[in-house]
Amino acid sequence: DGQTNQVVAPRILAIVNQKGGVGKTTTAVNLATAMAACKKKVLVIDLDPQGNASTGFGVPRKGRDADSYAVLIGEATIAEAAIETPVPGLEVVPASSDLSGAEIELVEMDHREFRLREAVVRHAATSPYDYILIDCPPSLGLLTLNALVAADAVLVPLQCEFYALEGLSQLVRTVERVRKALNPGLEIQGVVLTMYDRRNNLSDQVAADVREYFGDVVYRTMIPRNVRVSEAPSYGKPVIVYDMACSGSRAYISLAREVLTRESTLAANAFAA
Ligand code: ADP
Ligand code: MG
Repeated sequence: DGQTNQVVAPRILAIVNQKGGVGKTTTAVNLATAMAACKKKVLVIDLDPQGNASTGFGVPRKGRDADSYAVLIGEATIAEAAIETPVPGLEVVPASSDLSGAEIELVEMDHREFRLREAVVRHAATSPYDYILIDCPPSLGLLTLNALVAADAVLVPLQCEFYALEGLSQLVRTVERVRKALNPGLEIQGVVLTMYDRRNNLSDQVAADVREYFGDVVYRTMIPRNVRVSEAPSYGKPVIVYDMACSGSRAYISLAREVLTRESTLAANAFAA
């Protein structure tokens, strides 16, 4: 009857910062959960060999046969590797320790920067997702490069600590280089301040510095340092499932609203261009 269910390709956000311990995985898991709570269909691709995002969703280590490594080397499709999480509407492509060799193996492969993008493009026509969030490892190596090439936009978590801005110029340069040579459409979705402690003057100073440096790119929402956020992964649950009322959960729900609002603006701009 001429009715077609047109599938819109998912928007892809890479969660990137080459520093470890700044809140990338926590943001990937909880932003994805909050977006799913906003009725979006979301996939998290765990691209860190440590597999913390997979663990954060309670995926057992031995349940990770078809993993992000298999997707990168073309042994599995995204549809084959995606598994359900306890959160309705949210799936994850888990990481296993196989991924730890990928950084080196990829060097030898054809289209080594494009492996994830090719998997995503192959998947796009039948994708059930509105958003794909990629949790990146703490480096700017080939895995992160694959994420930057596959992504529509980058989301950068920054920890509210003295060295927050250090290394950031390197990250910005990498994004520019990817934009010039590999992925001209790559945008910055935003910068999110994490582990904010309002009792600590340094947190406020860092937040002010980061806002001065990045302006409106920084989300108004700051993620507070909250013990519930750090406890939740040991139960294999996003904090929003573990304790919906805590300050960390409320912050991630507020962040999701900001991200989704920006997404509609970015989409409108892209349409106008
Ligand atoms: P990354 O992925 O960048 O290495 P993580 O998300 O794993 O960083 O966070 C590093 C550590 O800090 C983890 O132990 C995590 O539980 C903890 N953490 C992250 N965000 C918060 C927060 N808002 N409050 C308290 N602990 C946090
Ligand atoms: Mg991580």
